[in-house]
Amino acid sequence: MILVTGGAGFIGANFVLDWLAHSDEPVLTLDKLTYAGNLENLRSLEGDARHVFVQGDIADAALVPALLAQYRPRAIVHFAAESHVDRSIHGPADFIQTNIVGTFNLLEAARQHWLTLEGAHRQAFRFLHVSTDEVYGTLSASDPAFTETKAYEPNSPYSASKAASDHLVRAWFHTYGLPVLTTNCSNNYGPHHFPEKLIPLVITHALAGKPLPIYGDGLQIRDWLYVKDHCSGIRRVLEAGTPGETYNIGGHNEMANIDIVQRICALLDELRPRSDGQPYARQISYVKDRPGHDRRYAIDARKMQQELGWTPAETFDSGIRKTVQWYLEHPDWVQNVQSGAYRDWVATQYGQA
Ligand code: NAD
Repeated sequence: MILVTGGAGFIGANFVLDWLAHSDEPVLTLDKLTYAGNLENLRSLEGDARHVFVQGDIADAALVPALLAQYRPRAIVHFAAESHVDRSIHGPADFIQTNIVGTFNLLEAARQHWLTLEGAHRQAFRFLHVSTDEVYGTLSASDPAFTETKAYEPNSPYSASKAASDHLVRAWFHTYGLPVLTTNCSNNYGPHHFPEKLIPLVITHALAGKPLPIYGDGLQIRDWLYVKDHCSGIRRVLEAGTPGETYNIGGHNEMANIDIVQRICALLDELRPRSDGQPYARQISYVKDRPGHDRRYAIDARKMQQELGWTPAETFDSGIRKTVQWYLEHPDWVQNVQSGAYRDWVATQYGQA
């Protein structure tokens, strides 16, 4: 069995679904179900004996050791985090608590669990920490892409809290020998993405006839990866990565935000034209830039390719088409997330919202 934290969120849920599509090894999902956690994402696993869901906090110093003692996972894949940069600007406290204190608690519990394992089981245990390229800071147009040796220069409360968690993970390897792996990935997109982030926000706003907000000049560059490719990268690192190493995962798809929005508008014009026949791009609306907005991120993923033989399966064109199609085919999911109906469902299921 493996333990997946944050498995009801965007990437975590894609990972759990993907894992169980490729393997019969059971998954224990631990998720607090914050606003970003959504059990709808895992609904297709209802009744599947290979999946156990526990609602709980990674920072709970009683719960996490008890779960490890009960289920004895051979690996932990750690996604749980507060993940939205804008929210971190308005309220950083939750980011410090979950991303730093929560990761610390998980590492300590993992270390105690690992010490109870013997022989080959102890050798095989892995703690895989899922992190972001935002820890590296910002790039100018002419800078080379981030490699694994780039110095950390986080600029937002979110990226600073993730950088702190990366350092804790590194220290638990060097100090205690815990077999950790860290992945730093570029921006993900795909199914089940909470509609506060750029791509799902643009799709859902476009369909609802709302303005499509673009920060500043819209020329901020991000490196985009289809979420299923991130999942395959994590599986590969878990399988063959060297403990103590970090791996950058990216799609070599650098694009300016405004170009992403234009691309989505063009796809919607093709797949679901506006009722008045006008292009969706007319809904684009420029808004004041985010404070401290990083200009450019770019990932050099050559280590993943050369050492682990991993490459992404999707191009940006194929991935964004699948993503837009998924949102068009799942209006109920979007409506549930936006209306809070899924929270009511969780309240019925678990007695709390
Ligand atoms: P998300 O916000 O969609 O999901 C986070 C999940 O963690 C939610 O289900 C939430 O309920 C859960 N959670 C939050 N606090 C918790 C706590 N204290 N205890 C247990 N569960 C808790 O995030 P995401 O976009 O899926 O990102 C997952 C991970 O991947 C994060 O660590 C993030 O830093 C990293 N990452 C994300 C991206 C991206 O583009 N989204 C890129 C690179 C790395």
